[in-house]
This record gives sequence, structure tokens and C-alpha cells, in this order.
Amino acid sequence: MSLLFRFFAVSLLIAGSSIAVTAWLATQTTTGSIRQEQGEALATDASIYDRLLGYAAVNPRWSDVQSTVDTIARETGRRIALTTWDRTTIADSGDEGSPQLPVNPTVVVDPLNVNPVLKPVEVDEIDPRAVGPFKLTREESDNLRARAQMVADCDGRTVVMEPSGRPVLVRQNPRTQFADCEVDELLYEPTETERKASGELIELLQDCLSRSNIELSPLPWMNLTTPEWYRSPRVHETPEEAACLASARREQLTQYVAPPALMFLTAPTGAEPPTVDLSTAGVTRITWTALGILALAGLASWLTANHLVRPIRALTAATRRMGAGDREVRVTAAKGEIGGLARSFNTMSAKLADTERQRQALVGDVAHELRTPLSNVTGWLEAAQDGVAATDQRLVALLLEESLVLQRLVDDLHDLAQADAGTLRLHAEPIDAADVVEQVVAAHATNREVTVTARTEGELFLVADPVRLRQAVENLVTNAIRYTPAGGTVSVEGRLDQGVVIEVVDTGVGIAPDDLPHVFDRFWRADKSRSRTTGGSGLGLAITRHLVEAHGGTVSVTSEPGAGSTFRITLPTP
Ligand code: ADP
Repeated sequence: MSLLFRFFAVSLLIAGSSIAVTAWLATQTTTGSIRQEQGEALATDASIYDRLLGYAAVNPRWSDVQSTVDTIARETGRRIALTTWDRTTIADSGDEGSPQLPVNPTVVVDPLNVNPVLKPVEVDEIDPRAVGPFKLTREESDNLRARAQMVADCDGRTVVMEPSGRPVLVRQNPRTQFADCEVDELLYEPTETERKASGELIELLQDCLSRSNIELSPLPWMNLTTPEWYRSPRVHETPEEAACLASARREQLTQYVAPPALMFLTAPTGAEPPTVDLSTAGVTRITWTALGILALAGLASWLTANHLVRPIRALTAATRRMGAGDREVRVTAAKGEIGGLARSFNTMSAKLADTERQRQALVGDVAHELRTPLSNVTGWLEAAQDGVAATDQRLVALLLEESLVLQRLVDDLHDLAQADAGTLRLHAEPIDAADVVEQVVAAHATNREVTVTARTEGELFLVADPVRLRQAVENLVTNAIRYTPAGGTVSVEGRLDQGVVIEVVDTGVGIAPDDLPHVFDRFWRADKSRSRTTGGSGLGLAITRHLVEAHGGTVSVTSEPGAGSTFRITLPTP
């Protein structure tokens, strides 16, 4: 698969998944906030309902409800309207400018039939605040409250007043132990009012049961005539009894509570609260937007991918041309990573071209170096064949000399080839460089024209291949003798100075400053004709440098034309 296509596909995938995730998140958040809003609205509705229910439970008529409705409307910021079943307005917090009421009421306000969703009531769906004839007289209530308070003071319970005006003792902390206090039996006795009201209720209950031909069985709760008995969940009663009790209660309470009214709750202007458009049109719009974004992302990634791939293609083409032999091929390098790659390619290409040139030069040089001794040998042999030259000892000596030149050239080339291939093997061992210096100098001690001396300071221990190190120093000393006229001196010095330093100092012809950078190049000679006659191959210094570098060292030269040269080898100590 092409890089372009892969990049394109991955971008589309990323864009697609991010759109999907964003859409999902948005839906989640919106749904959450809608639910929260709905919950809040429901809680407000429930509280308005509860307050109006409270009013209806203790007032037999709605006549004075307007002020209450206005207060609640102001507090909740909603329009509240109450009407009778035939839609005659009882109270309305809106004014003449307010829009018409909706067709369906929000809820029916009836304390004898409480809406279980807006206000869960424990028994019979009758508002506990509707107490009707069970309402104690002030005297009874005060009397009971005083008695209850005395008990509460003793055992730590709290007095809570029921809607009927009867006190109840409540334990605030369930772990509190009852103190050993006197029980006030009177607190659990029905008052006069309650006795009367429950008598009425039991009569109504009996009427109801007799209509269904049921005998009123003596049940335990019949003795408990306080409102608590019908307020607490009852057991041991038949469904018929339960239904009759509820209807008897309603019958008894009807004249004490306000008649059922329709309640309408709307926003102050009458407008419905805004809803989120999740219709098909909305979904279609979201889909089109997502597709549009996807198309844009696709276009952008296509352009980017093209932009990225173009230089890579150029590089591929350049590499192909280079493989086909074009060494001069270069690519235009832009900024960035791919630009870096292009620059590396150009560097590599330049280096290859350079190597190629060197290789061609080397072959040319080798051929040139071989030609001179070979044509000398051929010349002498032809002369001998033609009888021009005598085949004597002198001829043999001449031929031998040329053959030695060839031999040395081939040996040097072999060393260089090994160094280039990295197969120049070193047999490194701990040695004293002073010994190497002594040995090389001793080999040239017999030289009559040039004085060769050695000067070393102490022991110069290092780890090196003694044969190769000797070859390197030997090359320098041979050169020094070669380029030093008769009567001059060559001094080889060894000392310790941030490693082992071996210096070959001569008082010879020296090297011109312009030539200094080239002395270590292959086949380079300051004076082409002269040196070849002196027997140098033009490879000596190149080999020396390779040998020294193979030991991890460096070789350098300083020189003054006419005064002499100094070659310095520096080798690392262990
Ligand atoms: P060659 O076999 O020609 O000596 P080298 O690589 O050993 O080849 O040296 C390269 C050239 O460097 C020599 O031809 C010579 O011109 C110059 N050279 C080397 N050593 C010295 C020296 N000690 N004094 C002057 N010139 C030197």
C-alpha cells in the first residue's frame, strides 16, 4: 500500500473517530443537562403543588387563595392559575395580557386525592394536613403539649406537633436510650374532640361496610382513636375494610377541605420552555455537518500527504539515477526531516562521486608508477637482446634494482589496500617505544653521508604492534635521510607528552608551506622526477598515517624550507 494512501486512510480514520467521539460526548452532556433541567422543573412543580395542597387541606374554600398564588408565582418565576372543573378562574398570577391557559391542566389540586408522583403520601392518598374534625381545640392542644414537653424534658425526646395539634414525642437520635421516666398515660388517651370525630368516622365506616354487607370486625385499631391510627400503615384489615375506611375518611373530610381545582403551570409569558431539537431534521443536519467536516479533513490530509510524499518521490528517482551510474545527481533540500534526508543524500552522493574520482586517480597513478620501472627493465633487456648492452653483472644489478622498486611499490599497495579494507591486522602487545626507536636508528647507523641519532627519555611503554610501529618510524627516517643532503643530521626522539611522542627531525630540504597539507596523500611528491629516482613510491607517508591511525594515534608535520622538517607521531598510552 502506498504511503500516500496509508496516510490518507489514517487521517480519515482519526477525523471520523474524533467526530464520533465528540458527537457522543455532546449527546451525553446535552441529555444530562436536559434531564437535570427537567428534574429541577419537576421539583419546582412539586413544591408549588404541595403549597397549594396545604392551603386546600385547611381551607374549606378557595376564596382567599389569590395572594398565596401570587406569592408562590413570584418566588418560583412561573405563572400559576387555578380553575374549577368548568374552567372558571379561581386565581391566576398572570394578568389580562397573559396568553390563554393550555388545554390540559398540569395537575388537579385535591387534598383528598393527592397525586402520588408529585407528592407521595403514606396512606389513602389523603394529605396528612387535612385533619378536619380531628383538629384539637387550642386548650386540648396546649394541655397535651405541656404534658409531652415534661416527658421530653425527662427522657430527651423532642416534641413535634401533628397537623391536628396533637404533640408527638420523637427520638432525635435513634441510639438514645429511653430514660427511666414516668409514662403519662393521658398523652395516649383521645381527647374529647378526637373521640367525637372518630365516633363519626366509625359510623361512616359502618355505613359503608353495611352497604357491602360486611360486618365490622372488632379490629385492634378501633381502640386507637387518635389520628395516628389511620395515618400509620395498617395491617390485619381486609381490602374492603381498607377501601371503606378511605372512603369514610374522604366523606368526613369533604366539608373541611377546598373542592378539587385544576392547576395550570406555565412560563410567565405562557411560552413552553425551549426543547432540544432531536427531530429527524436535526439528526440529518448533524449528519451533513459531520460529513462536511470529514470531507474537509480528507481534502486537508490529501494535500498534506501529497506535500509530504513529493520530496520522497524525488529522492527515490534520484536514488534510481544514482544506482544507474549518475554520480552528479542532487535533490533540492527543503526544511524539516525530509529536507534532512535530502541533505544526507546529497552529502552521500558527493562523497560517492569523490571516492569514484579518487579510485580513478589511484588506478591512473598505479599504472603510471608501474610504467617507469617496467619500461626501464624492458629497455635494458631489449638492449641486451640487440647486443647493444652487455649481459654482465652490471646489467643484472640494474635489473635487480628496478625489480626491487616494483617489489616495494607492490608491497606498499598491498598495505594500503589492507588498510582501506580494514583488514590490516595488528598484533598489539605491551612494548617499549624506546626499543623501536633504537632498532630503526641502528639500521641506519652505517650511513656515511647523514648522521642518524636516537634520543629517548626513560621507558616509553605502550600497547602496539612492534613490527607495524617500526615500519611507520622506518618510513619517516628513510624519508628524512632521503631528503637530507650529505653532512646533515637526522635525529629520532622519543618522550612522554600526553602519550608517547616519537619525532623524526632532519636538517634537510624541508617542505614548502603550500605542499604541507598534501604530503600524506597517496602518490603525492613535491618533486615528481627527483623522488622517483631516489626510490620512493609516493605511498610511504600515506601508509605511515594509516598505521599510526590504526593504533589510535596521529601523525603531523612541521617544516621550514631549506632548514628541515619534523614529523611527529603521537600514540596513546594505556
Ligand atoms: P616518497 O616515496 O616519494 O618519499 P612519501 O609519501 O614518503 O613518498 O612522501 C611524499 C612526499 O613528501 C615526498 O615525495 C617528498 O616530496 C615529501 N617529503 C616526505 N618526507 C620529507 C622530508 N623529511 N623532507 C622533505 N620532504 C619530504
